[in-house]
Amino acid sequence: MGSSPAKPGTALVVGGGISGLLSARELATAGLDVTVLEAGDAWGGCVGSHTVSGLTLDSGAESFATRSDAVARLATELGLGGRIVSPRPGGAWVQLPDGPRELPKTGVLGIPANPWDPEVRRTLGIMGSLRASLDRLLPASVGAGTGVTSVAALVRARMGARVLDRLVSPVVGGVHSADPGLLDVDMVAPGLRTGLRNHGSLAAAVSAQRRPAIGAGATDPGRPAKAGSAVAGLDGGMHTLVDALVADLRSRGVTLLAGTAATAVSRTITGWRVDAAGAPFTGDLLVMAVDGPAAVGLLEAAVPAIAGKQPASGPDVKLVTLVLDQPDLDRRPRGTGILVAPQTPGVEAKALTHATGKWDWLAAAAGPGRHVLRLSYGRVDGASAQPGGPDSDEELFAASLRDASALLGVPVAAGDIRDWDVVRWRGSLPFAAVGHRARAAAIREACTAAGGLAVVGGWMAGNGLAAVVADTREQIGRMTGA
Ligand SMILES: Cc1cc2nc3c(=O)[nH]c(=O)nc-3n(C[C@H](O)[C@H](O)[C@H](O)COP(=O)(O)OP(=O)(O)OC[C@H]3O[C@@H](n4cnc5c(N)ncnc54)[C@H](O)[C@@H]3O)c2cc1C
Repeated sequence: MGSSPAKPGTALVVGGGISGLLSARELATAGLDVTVLEAGDAWGGCVGSHTVSGLTLDSGAESFATRSDAVARLATELGLGGRIVSPRPGGAWVQLPDGPRELPKTGVLGIPANPWDPEVRRTLGIMGSLRASLDRLLPASVGAGTGVTSVAALVRARMGARVLDRLVSPVVGGVHSADPGLLDVDMVAPGLRTGLRNHGSLAAAVSAQRRPAIGAGATDPGRPAKAGSAVAGLDGGMHTLVDALVADLRSRGVTLLAGTAATAVSRTITGWRVDAAGAPFTGDLLVMAVDGPAAVGLLEAAVPAIAGKQPASGPDVKLVTLVLDQPDLDRRPRGTGILVAPQTPGVEAKALTHATGKWDWLAAAAGPGRHVLRLSYGRVDGASAQPGGPDSDEELFAASLRDASALLGVPVAAGDIRDWDVVRWRGSLPFAAVGHRARAAAIREACTAAGGLAVVGGWMAGNGLAAVVADTREQIGRMTGA
């Protein structure tokens, strides 16, 4: 009998965001000698941190979806299980052209589980709720077909324009920085159309997705995840997950090279070569864990089947963080924050997070009367054009004061501000245009066929930590045969 081939011994990971770091952990666990190449000087990619007025805050992702236990499980493995926290109750609001409303708590992307829920009915009006409840009567085939569908097309067909304009557009704008008419529903709400097929209506599919995964969020003894609490965070911020992951990788002997941007990828006889920061690196296995345009650009010479298949670059998101003294905010006038409907006149921000109103740990760290607000700007409204709006730091700061005052109903003046900053995420949110899911699947298939290559990250898995963590584990498991 011939002996089985020797297990591959070395692996390269390009990209040190959550997908790259988690890939490195899975590969190291499988016994490989792993090197991670990261272009920037910080680890974690979109799960970053910054310090404003002495407070260490999340500069990108600040929570995770609890519809699966993927992130909670990873946090627990890294010793952070006891630090998983639910946001403060009260939920978020939505700013509509006719004023602010509490955002119904039982939705997926703003799609309500029950159109007659009092909060939903108040937001939609009787006629809007009536139209939305037609969803229960329509055949499941409406919107559940295999053809490609945008979020807007699905919602409009099943529940009508008011659900789209008054609930879904603000939520999708806040999370994905894009118009729901442009986004592939199977990418940004995975499983929803399958749920529609299985349960017969969109509302029932939403209800099924809202049932929290066993264990998710349940590790916060003070505040167990209530039904309707769809996200959780970490005491200290999501960036502490990256710190723990990096420490774990170091303890496993993984080589972590920051400031090392990959510029070219080629095949070797036994595996892969990556040129980065002027030096060649080789590995038996290669994991590409960067954004979509960069991944295709780096791989297309070695995997000709994907040449020219670059996905559109994501929107530029600008976040203004204000740390201020304003005791009127102690009463949390808009709960954990407020999403802005695109048609709202006079407000340029697309969302405001009242971070000290959302997380107890942060309110305690900030102290009495001191608050942290985060306003986000930038939304893709047309197929390619990015809208204008404030751009320089000073313009963004001025807009954030105007918008915070209008959205919170509390005056926020320059004199109240202890410190502020602007964080720019250029193209970091993957832009899941209609048809993206099928194109991503084809790219992944071509890369898998190349052998010893995995492609991971938000542009493949869908935006968000829950999707990225679950998909990365699956892909690396497949690669290592774990
Ligand atoms: C502002 C913002 C807020 C968000 N909020 C949330 C949230 O609250 N909850 C949630 O679940 N999700 C949130 N997300 C989404 C979530 O953060 C992402 O889905 C996830 O972090 C993506 O991880 P990733 O590893 O795929 O990509 P990234 O984090 O983008 O990592 C990719 C890494 O690759 C590096 N890289 C790029 N090119 C090269 C190269 N040539 N060579 C070497 N390295 C390279 C980059 O520097 C980067 O570090 C948010 C995203 C943003 C931008």
